[in-house]
Amino acid sequence: MFSEDCVFCRIAQKELPATVVHEDDRALAFEDQNPQAPHHILVIPRRHTASVASLDEEDRELAGHLLLVAGQVARDRGFDSAGYRVVANVGEEGGQTVPHLHLHVLGGRSMTWPPG
Ligand code: 5GP
Ligand code: ZN
Repeated sequence: MFSEDCVFCRIAQKELPATVVHEDDRALAFEDQNPQAPHHILVIPRRHTASVASLDEEDRELAGHLLLVAGQVARDRGFDSAGYRVVANVGEEGGQTVPHLHLHVLGGRSMTWPPG
């Protein structure tokens, strides 16, 4: 599924520019335009789905793949050994602003808990 008015679908279709750090048949990873850490990568499925809340049983393999890509990107970019954070914001109270599922992969600084 492709949504013409979804910014991440348009990045996946190469209709909008992004600094892509990984791509394969199911997923794309690119630098966040407003980085919250020295490394801030977004991992998205190519196929549009709104969030973790819209995943269902048939997305089981895709969901696992996105996590593997998150780990691979951290390794490839060399910020895995110090530790990093993978987070998905879901819906309004979760702080989600782009309604296309994405994992934030943040690294290169110490993280705090709880998040704001
Ligand atoms: P959310 O708040 O939905 O969890 O995260 C959305 C993220 O997408 C934000 O960190 C924001 O900076 C990033 N973002 C929004 N639009 C664009 C865009 O057009 N290009 C890139 N590279 N990042 C975007
Ligand atoms: Zn989309």
